[in-house]
Amino acid sequence: MNEVNEILSQLTTEEKEKLRAKKVLVTGGGGFLGSWIGETLLALDTKVYCLDNFSTGVRRNIESLKNNKNFRLIEGDVENFETDESFDFVFHFASRPAPDDYVLHPVETLKANSIGTLKMLELSKKSNATFVYASSSEVYGDAEVIPTPEDYWGKVNPIGVRSCYDEGKRFSEALCMAYFRECNLDVRIVRIFNTFGPRLRADGTYGRAISRFLTQALGHQPITIYGDGQQTRSFTYVTDTVTGILKVATSGLAKGEVFNIGNTEETKIIDLATLIIKLTESKSKIIFLPPAKDDPRRRRPDITKAMLTLKWAPRVSIEEGIKRTIEWLKNQKI
Ligand code: UDP
Repeated sequence: MNEVNEILSQLTTEEKEKLRAKKVLVTGGGGFLGSWIGETLLALDTKVYCLDNFSTGVRRNIESLKNNKNFRLIEGDVENFETDESFDFVFHFASRPAPDDYVLHPVETLKANSIGTLKMLELSKKSNATFVYASSSEVYGDAEVIPTPEDYWGKVNPIGVRSCYDEGKRFSEALCMAYFRECNLDVRIVRIFNTFGPRLRADGTYGRAISRFLTQALGHQPITIYGDGQQTRSFTYVTDTVTGILKVATSGLAKGEVFNIGNTEETKIIDLATLIIKLTESKSKIIFLPPAKDDPRRRRPDITKAMLTLKWAPRVSIEEGIKRTIEWLKNQKI
C-alpha cells in the first residue's frame, strides 16, 4: 500500500466526506508534511492551493501533483501572501523545521510563525475556514514532565538559539486561541512530534536525525551524533502523523483544541544510530560531535487525548518506518 492509500484507509467515511471536494490552502505545501497532506486531499477530489517559497520545500515533492487539474502552486512567502480566494480549510505548515537550519534564519522563521500565522488566521476568518496550525513538540522545550501531556506549559529558553522556532510556535498557538476566543474562528492546533519517512530532507543543514543517519549509513559515512547520544526522541512515521493531522482537522470535538500527535516509543539517539547501521548493513562508524545548544534531553508525548477524542494511535513502529524509508531512499537514487 502506498502512503496516501494508507492514510485514507485510516480515516473514517465521515472524516473523508468532510475533506472531499473542498477548497484548501496548504502553506508549506511543497515541504515534507505539506506535500503529503496535499497529495492526500487531491485523492479526495479537493482543490489544493499549495503556497511555498521553497526555502526548504522541494519541487520534486509536488512534481507528480502538478498535472492534477485540482492542484495549484503559488510561489511566495506566507507573510506576504494576498488573495481574493476563499477556502474551506487552511493548513498553516510553512516554516523552516530543521534546528541546524532555522538557527541560521531566525528572523525568517519567526516571521512565518507570527506574521504568517496572523495573515492565515485573517484569511480563515474572511473565508470562514477551519484553520489547522502545525505546532510542535518544541513548544514544551526541555520538558520536565515525560510523557508530556498537552496541559504541560513547557520549559523554553526565550532568548536561546532555538527560540525563533519554539517561541514562534508558542506565539502562533496564542494567536490561534485569541482568534478562537474573540472571533469564534474554528482553529485546531496539532503539536507534531519528530516525524520521518519519504521526502524528509537529509541534505546539508536541512537534515534531521533519521534522514541524515540513513543517508550516512547507506553511503558508509560516519554517523554524526551531537553530544553523548543519550538524548531521546519519539519518532513517528509520516502516515501516522498525517492521519492524526487530518483527524484533528475533521473531528467534531477538536475546535479550539490542541493535540499531541506522535509515537510513544521513546528512542535514544545512540540506539537510533545503532538500529540504522543494523538495518542498512552499513560499515559506518559513529562519531560524537559537540552537543547542539539547548537540545531537549527527552521527548515523548502523552497521546491519551488524541486516542480518546480522535480514536487515533500510531500504527507503524520505528523499525518498520525506517525499513520503508530505506526502500524509498534506494529508489530515489535510480
Ligand atoms: N542529531 C544528531 N546528529 C544529527 C542530527 C541530529 O545527533 O546529525 C540529534 C539532535 O541533536 C537531537 C536529535 O538528534 O538531539 C533529533 O534531532 P532532529 O534535528 O531530528 O530533531 P529535533 O532536534 O528538532 O527534535
